[in-house]
Amino acid sequence: MENQKLYEMTLNQMKPIQLRQLGTAGHVACALESIDGNIYTGICIDMPCSIGLCAEQSAIAEMLKNRKTQITKLIAVYEDGSILPPCGRCREFISQLDNNNYETKILLPTLRETSLNKLLPERWDDKWNYDN
Ligand SMILES: [Zn+2]
Repeated sequence: MENQKLYEMTLNQMKPIQLRQLGTAGHVACALESIDGNIYTGICIDMPCSIGLCAEQSAIAEMLKNRKTQITKLIAVYEDGSILPPCGRCREFISQLDNNNYETKILLPTLRETSLNKLLPERWDDKWNYDN
């Protein structure tokens, strides 16, 4: 999907909700495109006990329900409309789903593209990637 359309689709998923106590959800939304061209979306959840998940992780869970693991493109958007690169935890998470995900296009502010590979230099798990 074209980057601008993917951005707009992600923005349309944005439905922030206040949860019990200080919990919040939906202030970051993510859309990803899997290798077969399907689009999966997710939202973040943040609870006051520090348990929560990133929007990328909930979008990935949707994708895995369809038994797909390879992501061709991914974008995450904050509630103010700004584009957020994946956090370090999500970078690892995405890479460990499928070896091909090092080539996943990650959308950055102004809809620039980079690859997950460029966001994960000097990887700790290179040994296992190259021994196989
Ligand atoms: Zn994350």
